[in-house]
Amino acid sequence: MNLDKTLKPQLEERRDQHRYRSRRVVESPQSAVIQENGVELLNFCSNDYLGLANHPEVIAALQHGAGQWGVGSGASHLVNGHSEEHHKLEEELAAFTGRERALLFSTGYMANIGVINALVGKGDLVLQDKLNHASLIDGGLLARADFARYPHSDMAHLEKRLQASKHARKLIVTDGVFSMDGDLAALPDMATLAAEYGAWLMVDDAHGFGCLGKEGAGSVELFGLNQHQVPVLVGTLGKAFGTFGAFVAGSEVLIETLIQYSRSYIYTTALPPAVAAATRKSLALLRKNNAKRQHLQQLIVQFRAGCAQLGLALMDSDSPIQPVMVGGDQQALNMARHLHTKGCWVSAIRPPTVPEGTARLRVTFTAEHTPSQVAQLLEAFAYAQTQEQE
Ligand SMILES: *Cc1c(COP(=O)(O)O)cnc(C)c1O
Repeated sequence: MNLDKTLKPQLEERRDQHRYRSRRVVESPQSAVIQENGVELLNFCSNDYLGLANHPEVIAALQHGAGQWGVGSGASHLVNGHSEEHHKLEEELAAFTGRERALLFSTGYMANIGVINALVGKGDLVLQDKLNHASLIDGGLLARADFARYPHSDMAHLEKRLQASKHARKLIVTDGVFSMDGDLAALPDMATLAAEYGAWLMVDDAHGFGCLGKEGAGSVELFGLNQHQVPVLVGTLGKAFGTFGAFVAGSEVLIETLIQYSRSYIYTTALPPAVAAATRKSLALLRKNNAKRQHLQQLIVQFRAGCAQLGLALMDSDSPIQPVMVGGDQQALNMARHLHTKGCWVSAIRPPTVPEGTARLRVTFTAEHTPSQVAQLLEAFAYAQTQEQE
């Protein structure tokens, strides 16, 4: 069977469905204004929520780290790639999250795959929110445990599943802040259910860290949930931290178990030590900079008020993820194009990333945005609405 001939119809189908994905080449660092094709655009799709990806002190830490450690880590953590810089970052992340220990992974995707597979297998049960991030879903599918997805944030449904289970180990897995909707998981209720039914709660707070809590320690800080209540806590470093990588925080026993059994931890090269050095700097900035979180909140309030005036459908979100619901795939693409005409870069998110009929414009804010840039975005939305009505 000819490779290209076989694959081509599949690609054409994607295009016919208005679901074809393509990449756009960026010509500047991440910041509130970004350059593409020689044109400057307001950037409303980055996950760099605090503007740390291009922060001078973080850049300096990376440069200094490269001078001290070179570029590559040279090996996996268990061979000889685990540097002092990685080790210190892990200690600082443990202190930050109020957990006994933390363990660095090379990406959040790998952390989620590796953690779920180290904790459960045949004869166990994994329960996941329908809207969980793809990496969590993939981790659950790979584990060979029984796997069920409950309707978004439906605690009654989750409880029924727990009640009915006779499995040896039960793992409840959820996003802290849902990545495509921006709303929060009902973590206190989930922790109560987990305790009642002897299940373990795993929270992936990729979008909560840096944004929520006075120190930016995310959903668990916001809700005041300790290691006992949320024993498995995952964070990623490529979003509000502005660098790259991920970590898992929890008990001594959890972390040692991951070091022994987590294949995506064991069989991969450690992050460059200079990236760990840069992340130590961004962690320090993220913790102390509550003013940036407050500024971000003001932008969110401004945007939501403006959308209400325009009659745009928002989701129930107080996070920097503010999706504008559109519905149809083509309509979402059209709207994104109109926004682009007005100098705003917003991404149209379509199935299969989100459920059928819920295509949306996923607006994200960073602390680098100004109120006047948010006003510009609102004007662009007003323009896009008139274009679509014609
Ligand atoms: C981005 C994201 C990940 C993946 O993290 P990477 O470090 O980019 O691989 C995992 N979970 C959630 C909820 C995310 O948003």
